[in-house]
Amino acid sequence: MRGFILKKTAAVLSAVCIIVSLCACGSQKNEYSSFAMGSAVSASLYGKDKKQTDLLWNEISSAVTAADRLLSATSDGSDISRINSTGSAIVDSRTVSFLQKAVLLCNTLNRRLDITLGAVTALWGFTGGTPSVPDESALKAALDTVNIDGVFIDEANRTVSVENGQKLDVGALGKGEACDIMKEKLLASDTAACISFGGNVLVTGENPKGKNGEWKIGMRDPLGSPDEVFAALSLKAENGALCVSTSGSYEKRFEENGKSYHHIINPDTGYPAENGLVSVSVICPSGLNADALSTALFVNGLNETSVLWLKSFGADAVFVFENGTVFVTDSICKNFTITNTDVYKTVSYEEAAK
Ligand code: ADP
Ligand code: MG
Repeated sequence: MRGFILKKTAAVLSAVCIIVSLCACGSQKNEYSSFAMGSAVSASLYGKDKKQTDLLWNEISSAVTAADRLLSATSDGSDISRINSTGSAIVDSRTVSFLQKAVLLCNTLNRRLDITLGAVTALWGFTGGTPSVPDESALKAALDTVNIDGVFIDEANRTVSVENGQKLDVGALGKGEACDIMKEKLLASDTAACISFGGNVLVTGENPKGKNGEWKIGMRDPLGSPDEVFAALSLKAENGALCVSTSGSYEKRFEENGKSYHHIINPDTGYPAENGLVSVSVICPSGLNADALSTALFVNGLNETSVLWLKSFGADAVFVFENGTVFVTDSICKNFTITNTDVYKTVSYEEAAK
């Protein structure tokens, strides 16, 4: 008996933004919403007049839509789809630079993040299909195609090639890249903003209504229902930006024969990563790095390597375990408050990592 509880449709995803924005309201605040990369985008932009923020939002939306068209796994004409269908394609220069950064991140993060998992993730069917546990021999064959060294990027000719049978899946990084695109435009126009995009949140500048200019965001309860929060996080972006990316096992999942399966795959086994975690949120100035780290840390678990990665990226993180224990890196501790203390409690690294 298979209980199907996948939350995959756009409409549902829009209702389950991992982090619920709790930005303070103000007279200067203008709100916008859109939909991209399979997720709802909701934004609060603070400007002197609405005309200026309207124009900026149009510019931001167009840039994100353009990135979605290039990186989409499901639309036929996208650069990623064309690479996947023929094994080699001439692509947009933005795709070249995105894939260069993505390959570097996969290698830096010991391939716990691997964009060549496409053949494996397609078998699980989390994107666009009805998910089910793959046949073991098919999974093994798909796993054999996973190899980041098989991606060849010819920058001069804007050509990207992959090895025979290899498929790219950039789903772990697309929204992070989009946050960086939005960030650039907001910072260039000196605009304070708070944007929630699927499991990602971007804040720029000072919150005009927040205490000390801080932004306060509610973090989705990974063990609760989609509209519940379990903790609050204060973010101080000052004159820059901060991005928060969350990878959680609750996001896309299904049950088969009484066992639950989620969408974050261990590249060694081809099966969902299992190390007691239910979510990992990463906070740092780069959306792409935050997105890469949240997926890689979810696979890698809480250990010394994970802590080293966070330090080397200048990032903070919140690790939430299925037993309700929470580990928060030192420098974000003072900004983090558990609101659901019945279920959750913060513990030391030693206790969380044991
Ligand atoms: P979400 O897409 O829910 O925000 P993530 O950023 O963690 O969450 O990305 C998960 C998606 O990335 C999966 O749906 C799948 O397409 C892809 N994926 C799953 N496991 C990995 C992995 N180990 N490395 C790279 N991509 C992965
Ligand atoms: Mg990610």
